[in-house]
Amino acid sequence: MRKSEKEYGATYTATTTPCQKYDQQAVELSHKYLACEAELLSHLITMRKKRYFVSLNYAGIFDYCERRLHLSRAQAYYFKSVAEKSDEVPEIKQAVMTGELTLSQARRIVPVINKTNHRQWIQKAKELPQRELEREVTALNPQAHIREKLKWVAKELSELRVSLGPRAAANLTALQNILSQKRQKAASMGDVVAWSLEVARGKFDPIARAKRSVGRKPETGKKNCAQRPQRHANMAALSSLDPGFCPGRQSTSRRLAPRVPIPAAVKHAVVLRDQLRCTFVAADGTRCRQQRWIHVHHIKEWSRGGRNEIGNLRLLCRTHHALEHSRPDPQTIAAAEREGVPRGRVD
Ligand SMILES: [Zn+2]
Ligand SMILES: [Zn+2]
Repeated sequence: MRKSEKEYGATYTATTTPCQKYDQQAVELSHKYLACEAELLSHLITMRKKRYFVSLNYAGIFDYCERRLHLSRAQAYYFKSVAEKSDEVPEIKQAVMTGELTLSQARRIVPVINKTNHRQWIQKAKELPQRELEREVTALNPQAHIREKLKWVAKELSELRVSLGPRAAANLTALQNILSQKRQKAASMGDVVAWSLEVARGKFDPIARAKRSVGRKPETGKKNCAQRPQRHANMAALSSLDPGFCPGRQSTSRRLAPRVPIPAAVKHAVVLRDQLRCTFVAADGTRCRQQRWIHVHHIKEWSRGGRNEIGNLRLLCRTHHALEHSRPDPQTIAAAEREGVPRGRVD
């Protein structure tokens, strides 16, 4: 055996036992692991600031960590929460970068750390054992460590963990009584949740609503959905498909035709066609997976004569909608150049 060898930066002598050698190597690897974790956090924060995830067709850090980096959902969540908090409290990022805190310690204080108390909480995160730290955080923010969870416990059975405020808890008890009465059989909390979900989805899911509307005769003598949004429960969901969100190009000086709401039947058709999912397709051919924060986008803008027609509308998530409107528009640029407007003023 050689008198000494250097691996992972550790020095071994002839008297080093295999146990000590493995221990030293583990310590070295752990240092590298934590340094790498800090570097990855910094990397993700930069990508987030520069909005690279959008161009790469990821909805954000969580999506990117999970799908691209193959991190677990828990790890993806830790990176996301610490990266987001770093906007408000850059000291938390610095603490991870300098090795004062691990990512795991940093994410525990995210619910309570702010600009004024960061020194105190970084110190606590460094010194206190995990349980004690969690107890202190929870004392200040009771919601901090309640993690919602849906876990499969059998082939067709999952366990749901959520936290409820007093009103929601009272509603749950009231609905348990109502459902038991209705079925003439004691209803469990699970029965109430399953039943409530069915009812709510049937009422608010735009796809379910759109399917029901297909083939339905238009109501005569009554105002249509778009004209009485308050009365239609599903319009609350559909109105979140906001056709008016068109950043960037609204400041045109041209006189615009007054915008009219998209008729409900047209929205239903677009929702069904696009399956309530963002239609942005990245350069590699993959479609955005986002199914929330969905907007209706006019392919040909309203200000350019585009109308509320199915072929002129597509669903985009909030991020890709903003991206769509941030692209230079050839027509605007050409018109502006003809009028001698500098490019910098064209939005
Ligand atoms: Zn748009
Ligand atoms: Zn999208």
